[in-house]
Amino acid sequence: MAKKQFKAESKRLLEMMINSIYTQREIFLRELISNASDAIDKIYYKALTDDQLIFNQADYYIKITADKTSRTLTISDTGIGMSKEELENNLGVIAKSGSFAFKNENELKDGHNIIGQFGVGFYSAFMVADEVTVMTKALGSDEAFKWESKGADGYTIVSSEKETVGTDIILKIKSNTEEDSYDEFLEEYRLKAIIKKYSDFIRYPIKMDVKVS
Ligand code: ADP
Ligand code: MG
Repeated sequence: MAKKQFKAESKRLLEMMINSIYTQREIFLRELISNASDAIDKIYYKALTDDQLIFNQADYYIKITADKTSRTLTISDTGIGMSKEELENNLGVIAKSGSFAFKNENELKDGHNIIGQFGVGFYSAFMVADEVTVMTKALGSDEAFKWESKGADGYTIVSSEKETVGTDIILKIKSNTEEDSYDEFLEEYRLKAIIKKYSDFIRYPIKMDVKVS
């Protein structure tokens, strides 16, 4: 399947992300959890006006799975999912909405931690991952799709299998280099600390599953 190119602005953002300094990387998890929460919100709000749709609180959650053997970190949600068109439109370009907008300009005055202050969105995954796979099935659809990208050189979308509605974002965590270790993003205590720091206010349960071998 032909590889599609990101739009120019997305490419620049990706490069910036990939080169982002050490201390700012952890915010990728805040971004992916907030997207997961938004996706569940969309079902919640739909259920308020749609009699056919019943929102059972227990069915809606976010799950973080770290697997040290495969070096993958998966952020799963039982949210609204994405159709093929939505995958194309939402992940092929920087979202027009909140992404990359200043949270609060005043916070930037001292010039440090710039990336940490942005709502940087989905692409921040590339700060810690060299490959990102999105498996998704939209509410009301029986088709699932797989979006895959190794970063700035583009992405592919193919038909796939997924039993339940929602989205799994699978990050292949980067290998360690001489200067940098990424192992922390597969460690339960570290992931918990990041979640506590940035995602404490999320109103759906965040479950954690860490596989050691
Ligand atoms: P923003 O959240 O500001 O719109 P992002 O870059 O974080 O920007 O995400 C882009 C878009 O991709 C979202 O607006 C949403 O439509 C879609 N998206 C991302 N993650 C998910 C998800 N887990 N479930 C459903 N849609 C998602
Ligand atoms: Mg977002």
